[in-house]
Amino acid sequence: MAAKLMVGNWKMNGSLAANASLLSEVLAGMGGKTCRAAVCVPAPYLAQAQALLAGSALALGAQDVSAHEAGAYTGEVSADMLRDFAVRYCIVGHSERRQYHGESDVTVASKVQRALAAGITPIVCVGESLAERDAGQTEAVVKRQLAAVIHTNGHCISEIVVAYEPVWAIGTGLTATPEQAQHVHAVLRAQLQAATAHADRVSILYGGSMNAANAADLLAQPDVDGGLIGGAALKASEFLAMLKAASR
Ligand code: PEP
Repeated sequence: MAAKLMVGNWKMNGSLAANASLLSEVLAGMGGKTCRAAVCVPAPYLAQAQALLAGSALALGAQDVSAHEAGAYTGEVSADMLRDFAVRYCIVGHSERRQYHGESDVTVASKVQRALAAGITPIVCVGESLAERDAGQTEAVVKRQLAAVIHTNGHCISEIVVAYEPVWAIGTGLTATPEQAQHVHAVLRAQLQAATAHADRVSILYGGSMNAANAADLLAQPDVDGGLIGGAALKASEFLAMLKAASR
């Protein structure tokens, strides 16, 4: 298995000044870390982050991509535009986009297709709400979400990254236990194995209130290949501590 992959999702946070200081602190502290790492920044800051990260071990990511190739889609950002800024990863289907922007499984699958066509690795988010977990629907929900992406993307599916993000754990301070995370990751792994002979290439990240205190236990699970980190990625010391935990 490849080195762990740790991805910061800045969400709608940052400014030119704050980004410069956060990235310089993270880059300065990264020496010797052996995990793979990336930050997904808001679209207006892609050029700034591209310049600051050039030649570093910290890859650049975006937080969303249009399901369309080009044209009359005001406000959208295409995969080819992201590629112009050397974007390596793109979060797709984050629960905040599914919830607040009405993104369906079909839309998410199309976005994944656009990213792959542009040579960008989509980080496909799946996860259940608290009501769905309480109703015993966790497996069915994440499998349905991933199945749509597999259906549309066929043999390219080994080129994606999956992030299991229980909705009830995002930004809430509640974290899935390592056992809960491992259980769902194993379900997703089996689904990928049924879809491609190259499922071992797919990293499955955990996301949901991951922080410096709980990262090591989550990352110790056999099917947890890394993390997608929101709030804690905005603090350099916290993010660096998680990169360290992922480099063991
Ligand atoms: C996220 O936004 O993907 C996330 C996991 O957020 P947080 O770490 O803040 O829960």
